[in-house]
Amino acid sequence: MSTSTHKNRTAEGMSRRHVLAAGALTAAAVAAQGSLGASRASAAAAPAIFYSPHQDDEAIGMAGSILEHKAAGRPVYLVLVSRGENDGLARRMNVGACELLRERCAAPNHWHDLNWPTDGASMIVPARTAEFMASAKAIGVDKVINFDLPDSAHDPSTYGKFVDAVTAKVKSLARKYPGASHKFAAGWLDVTPTHKACSDAAYRLMNDGTIRDVRFNHIYAYDRPYGERARGASYVLNIPSAHMTRKRNSIYCYNTWNPDRNFYALGYHSAYEKLEPAHGDPREFIYTLPSNYRPGKM
Ligand SMILES: [Zn+2]
Ligand SMILES: [Zn+2]
Repeated sequence: MSTSTHKNRTAEGMSRRHVLAAGALTAAAVAAQGSLGASRASAAAAPAIFYSPHQDDEAIGMAGSILEHKAAGRPVYLVLVSRGENDGLARRMNVGACELLRERCAAPNHWHDLNWPTDGASMIVPARTAEFMASAKAIGVDKVINFDLPDSAHDPSTYGKFVDAVTAKVKSLARKYPGASHKFAAGWLDVTPTHKACSDAAYRLMNDGTIRDVRFNHIYAYDRPYGERARGASYVLNIPSAHMTRKRNSIYCYNTWNPDRNFYALGYHSAYEKLEPAHGDPREFIYTLPSNYRPGKM
């Protein structure tokens, strides 16, 4: 596998560097850091569990890493953390002539006067989740787990409760799958509070020793100019072309119009500006928790 050389070269150096810089973590959490790339399957292969904060984050910034772990013989589980409610997205889909994507919109004649409720959940959550399930299938994950948590991270008064809920759910998975590695969004870089809340949950569980082998994918790296996306990453995954084909197939699930199957290209109407550069960049960007990590809503 093309990444194994890189892994072997960097694993030792990275863990030492991380130990020196890891003031924010307990010694136990630091000592338990594993190698940076996908580790080889052991006799009783523990799963690698990827936590996608919303529908589409796994396609944008995790699919290559998921495929890397699968190729290394690891079972891979994909968690959808939040329900992904989005009232603005419902309003956008209720406009006839597509204002956002115009001629690139996948709807027939780029027209969608859907007349959906704008509570953010009714049509949006099941349709976004249908896209997510199709994407998970395209990537070929072994199991999908839906935390089904209302996305309350955006409100400062409920942010803490959301972190508590994610923490409890991850903790129960850690108990169920001892030895699992856990892959979160690098929420301190991703700006959105839901992603940051996932990092906060990871931070807590690393510090109390519940989870040990933990990495963070920078989902929103593709907002940066091409040459700056790797800045600060511990490990840049160069996605092999066969895996990139599958990653692109997962991205297409978010730009498919087929109302009979509940597909309304919602991912594209929500984050085309990330999906498109992710489609064109065969890299993903993996981080360890920074030594100066600060939990809390940003
Ligand atoms: Zn997200
Ligand atoms: Zn449209």
